[in-house]
Amino acid sequence: MNFEELNVDPKIVKALAELGIKEPTTIQSDAIPIIRSGKDLIGKSKTGSGKTAAFGVPIVEMIEPKKGLQVLIMAPIRELALQIAEELEKFGKYMGISVTTVFGGVGLGPQITAMAKAEIVVATPGRLLDHLQRGNIDLSHIKQVVLDEADKMVDMGFIEDVDRIIQAMPEKKQVLLFGATISDEVNRLKKKHMHDPEVVKSESQVKSEFLEQHYYNIEAHEKFSLLVHLLKNEPTSLSIIFCAKRSTVEMVSHNLRRQGIKSEMIHGKLSQNRRLSVMADFKNGKPNVLVASAVAARGIDIRDVTHVFNYDLSQDPQEYIHRVGRTARAGETGKAITLLSPQDYDTFNSILRFYDVRVEAMPRINFPKLQFDARGARGDRRGGRDSDRGFGRVPRRYQRHAGGDGRAGGRGYGGDRPPRSGGFSSSRGPRVEERSDDKLKFMGRKSWNAHA
Ligand code: ADP
Ligand code: MG
Repeated sequence: MNFEELNVDPKIVKALAELGIKEPTTIQSDAIPIIRSGKDLIGKSKTGSGKTAAFGVPIVEMIEPKKGLQVLIMAPIRELALQIAEELEKFGKYMGISVTTVFGGVGLGPQITAMAKAEIVVATPGRLLDHLQRGNIDLSHIKQVVLDEADKMVDMGFIEDVDRIIQAMPEKKQVLLFGATISDEVNRLKKKHMHDPEVVKSESQVKSEFLEQHYYNIEAHEKFSLLVHLLKNEPTSLSIIFCAKRSTVEMVSHNLRRQGIKSEMIHGKLSQNRRLSVMADFKNGKPNVLVASAVAARGIDIRDVTHVFNYDLSQDPQEYIHRVGRTARAGETGKAITLLSPQDYDTFNSILRFYDVRVEAMPRINFPKLQFDARGARGDRRGGRDSDRGFGRVPRRYQRHAGGDGRAGGRGYGGDRPPRSGGFSSSRGPRVEERSDDKLKFMGRKSWNAHA
C-alpha cells in the first residue's frame, strides 16, 4: 500500500515523498479514508506512528485555498502546535495553502494578521480563546476541528476552553480526536461534541525490538553519577533527560555543565522564545543533551534521539509512555533508561500495572562518584525573568494551565507538578485499552514486585 493507492492528491504524494514518507502507517491508511468520508474519528496509536499525517494529509487535501479559515487544530503545548503547523505546511507545499500557529507568550498582533490569511490555524486553547473573546477570530466557517493529544489538554485543565471554542463553531462540522493515550475524561469531549465517531486504534511502526527499555535500581544520591557515566559510555546521538520537577531540571543541567557535559534545559517557565530556540538548537545537535521537564514529552518529534533518560519518574504513569516515545521514532532504534530509586517505586509499579511495557533490570555497575551541587541551580537559570515570578500574580482561574499556554506567564505543566497528582487513583480505573495496544511485555515483573 502506498499513498497513491489511498488516492491521495498527487501534489501531496509528491510532497510526502520529498519527506521520505512513502508507505502509510496503519493509523494513516485507516484514518485517511474515514476522515475523507466526513465522519468524526477517534484515532489512537502509539507515539511516533505518524498521527500528524493521519489527520494532516486529508485535511490539507480538502482545504479550499484562499477561502478563509476552515480548519482549527488544537494541541496542548506551544512546541507541538508549531511542529504540527510545520508538518502541514510541508504536506501542503504544492497546494498553495496557508497555515498559522497561535499560542501564548508572544504578541497578539502578528497572530491576528496571520490568522486573517490562513486556511488552517494550529493553536493552544488558552490563547485561541483569548482571540475569540476579543473578536479577533471567526470560527463560524470551521469545517473540521482536530484535538491532538486530547487527553493532555484535559489534564492541563483546558477542557472548558476547548468546550467554549468548539461551541463557537457551526453545529455541522467534523471533529477529529487523536492521541497515544485516550483517558476517560476525554469521553466528556466525545459525548458533547462528537457524533457517532469511528474509533481507529493501531499498532505503531515503532516495534518493541527498536526500543530497548532498561532500569537501574540505585539510591537517589547515586543518580547523577550514574547519569554522567552513562552519557559518557553509551553511544548516544541526541539524549533527552527527563526530570519531574523544574528544580531538578535546573540542578541536573547545572551539574552536567560542571562536569563538562554540554547540555541545555527546557521547562515550562522559560520564556517562549527561549523554549523555541532551545528546541531548535537541540534538533541540530547543539548541544546534544537536553534536560527537560514534561514540556518536551508530548508529541515532539525529533529525529536522532537515541536515548531517553528518566532521571526520575513523574507521578503520572502515563507520562512514562510519552517520554520514552521521544526515541525510536519512525523506524529508528532507541533506548530508554530509567534511574530508579525508592521514591520512584510507586509510579514504576503503576506504569507496569497499567501499561504492557517491558523494562529490563540492569545489573549494578561501577561508576565514579561525583560531587553534586544542589544549590547552584539558581545561578544557572536562563530566561530567568519568567522562571520564578508570575505565578503569584496570575489570576486563580488561569493557574491550572496558564504556563502551558503561555497566557499570563503562569505555572506551566512543565513538570513542576504532574498534571494529575497522585497518578492513577482507583476511582479513575485502569485504562484497559492502552494495554492491548502496546505490544511490549514486561519481563521480570515478579522480581520487580518483590521490591515494592
Ligand atoms: P505521532 O503523532 O504518532 O507521535 P508523528 O506524526 O509526530 O507521530 O510522526 C513521527 C515521525 O514519523 C515524523 O518524523 C514523521 O515525519 C514520520 N512519519 C510519519 N508518517 C510516516 C510514514 N508513513 N513513513 C515514514 N515516516 C513517517
Ligand atoms: Mg503527535
